[in-house]
Amino acid sequence: MMKIIVQKFGGTSVSTLENRKAVLHKVQQAMQNGYSPVVVVSAMGRRGDAYATDTLIDTLKAENPSVHNREMDMLMCCGELISSCVMTAHLQQNGIKAIALTGGQAGIVTDSEYGAARIKNIKTSNLFRLLEDGFVPVVCGFQGVTENNGNFTTLGRGGSDTTAAALGAALHAECVEIYTDVNGIMTADPRIVKNASTLENVSYQDVQQMAINGAKVIHPRAVEIAMSSNIPLVVKSTFTDEAGTVISNDRANGNIGSDVEMSNKIASGIANMGNLVQFRVTLNVKDGAAGQKVFQDIANAGISVSFLNLSEKEAMFATFNDDADKTCKVLDASGFEYVCNRNCGKVTVILAARRGMYGLMASFVTALSSEGIAILQTVDSDNTISAIIKEENIEKAVRALHKEFKL
Ligand code: ADP
Ligand code: ASP
Ligand code: MG
Repeated sequence: MMKIIVQKFGGTSVSTLENRKAVLHKVQQAMQNGYSPVVVVSAMGRRGDAYATDTLIDTLKAENPSVHNREMDMLMCCGELISSCVMTAHLQQNGIKAIALTGGQAGIVTDSEYGAARIKNIKTSNLFRLLEDGFVPVVCGFQGVTENNGNFTTLGRGGSDTTAAALGAALHAECVEIYTDVNGIMTADPRIVKNASTLENVSYQDVQQMAINGAKVIHPRAVEIAMSSNIPLVVKSTFTDEAGTVISNDRANGNIGSDVEMSNKIASGIANMGNLVQFRVTLNVKDGAAGQKVFQDIANAGISVSFLNLSEKEAMFATFNDDADKTCKVLDASGFEYVCNRNCGKVTVILAARRGMYGLMASFVTALSSEGIAILQTVDSDNTISAIIKEENIEKAVRALHKEFKL
């Protein structure tokens, strides 16, 4: 009986020969431990590097700024194609029987929502056959093909994680390892909080909230897929031998939410994201239908909104930067009076144990106001509290919350 493991390597991990040697080492280790690895790779490097996804996007946007379609997806897929061929060559050079596969060759079939395609199914026969023949498949992350015409699609930025989780589920892998440039899921982005610590164990739910709210260390869809198939995800560094973070349902085994830690761990992490625009639309009190019209007009225009809030006098919501001008046009067309607050972002605390806890909102507000940071709007859920703030305040806010919630 084959023991399958999926090992996904991010852009930095495959960017240089030196780094690819570290990848080789992780693949060899898995094989020595009796696993049949399926490797998933991202495009090599970061913006500015020749074949990085952002570089490819910039290249096409220079021709046509409004391009976002079939051709953009086709070009973006080239980044992972190059990466999988280069990584395969490196593994072969070191005696591993590796084979590069596109998303389509790995059986990944998606819908045709270019730029944000959803995986419809995975035809596993090719991969199983290759594994049985002793190959190490090196699959292009982030991509699939449409069912009918085989067009290339991409799964949304950061989507190689999704490829890895989906392959893990389809192949009934024992585990999906996400190798990156940090030691695991940390209590905040280490680029912002220097003393952020790595979580040993964390629940799917908490990581999903971190990911949805901007912690780009893992894609939220990858967490969702792993959670629904109950496959453990391990996030770890390509460059160290640290154990990394185990993401599973097993909250009780973790240092988050366990009885022992409950007393001093209130939160599991702080997440942040930028690129938001807040809208405050004035409503006529006598006209109950006005609020409905605002949200209907926005929905009809296909604009996705968050931070929804409706009261007698006002409707509030946020959009991404890219949708702000379109939103203004929609509101102008209906004659609404509104304020459009640009250059915003959000900070979120992911709470480990909200039920039965008091004063968490007070702590949240204290942390931000003690730094003189204005809160433009808040929203909360069962295990999160988020605020919209000015983008320039984000780093300061993350550090203040990290301290206030004793992370
Ligand atoms: P990869 O190319 O390996 O997929 P990403 O850049 O997508 O890497 O994700 C890793 C980065 O995520 C880290 O370098 C780190 O700066 C950032 N990050 C943001 N929030 C967190 C967090 N809570 N824990 C760890 N890393 C985080
Ligand atoms: N290369 C893709 C991106 O930059 C996918 C990924 O890195 O996961 O979004
Ligand atoms: Mg990533």
